[in-house]
Amino acid sequence: MYYESVLRRMPTELGQPIQYYLDMGDDFIILNNLLGRKIHFSFKKYECLNCGQDLPVFAQGLCKKCYFESPQVGAWVMKPEKSQAHLGIEDRDLAYEQSVQLKPHIVYLAKTSDVKVGVTRKSQIPFRWIDQGADAALPILETPNRYLAGQAEVLIKQHITDKTGWQKMLKGISTDKDLLAIREEVKAYLSKDLINYWLEKPEILSLQYPVLKNPEKVKSINLEKMPDFKGVLSGIKGQYLIFDDGHVLNIRNHSGYVVGVTI
Ligand SMILES: [Zn+2]
Repeated sequence: MYYESVLRRMPTELGQPIQYYLDMGDDFIILNNLLGRKIHFSFKKYECLNCGQDLPVFAQGLCKKCYFESPQVGAWVMKPEKSQAHLGIEDRDLAYEQSVQLKPHIVYLAKTSDVKVGVTRKSQIPFRWIDQGADAALPILETPNRYLAGQAEVLIKQHITDKTGWQKMLKGISTDKDLLAIREEVKAYLSKDLINYWLEKPEILSLQYPVLKNPEKVKSINLEKMPDFKGVLSGIKGQYLIFDDGHVLNIRNHSGYVVGVTI
């Protein structure tokens, strides 16, 4: 079977294990069914996810112009504490920023090779955690907007990382730290006004990925440098396809790339 489409973040469904789909425009490929089978990717051209033009992807599936102009990638996306919609201050498009920032947000602890702190819109749970390849996650605060969640994250990340070690995550290296114990520890870092949003009885969500074999060495695929890649799929974790020779393909990093997929 041959498919051709621009790549986008893989949609997922919570399950035992998590279900992964490859969005091929009019079709979806159920990736869990392809474990142990050969897949062939061929890079055709670019298609900016905003303007649709065949221009090199700068970041997040967008060409350079769209990246610096689109309201979807303002500074507040990566740095929630820079959110200003709650003050009525526009970054790139106030209506859009209000529609995203003024929604319930969750500050969470997630477990991969270490325990990290992060912020996400409540509606993105559990997808945000799946995209990070977290083994487990625990919400700790629920705030009414992105700014407050960002304030809490700034205080907590002075003590706990906010990064995911993606190579270790793909190798299946986990930490044995206890999320509930770390939750108690970080409470002391929060200011009084933020404690108002503390979740009293949060539940840990454990996540199980469809991985037959963890790679010992991880070799990242860049479709610009390897426009033709064939491999046997041995796992899916985070937004990565893992192949049995240790190559990994980060689908989200290749969003905006038009590829042919033969299965
Ligand atoms: Zn564009």
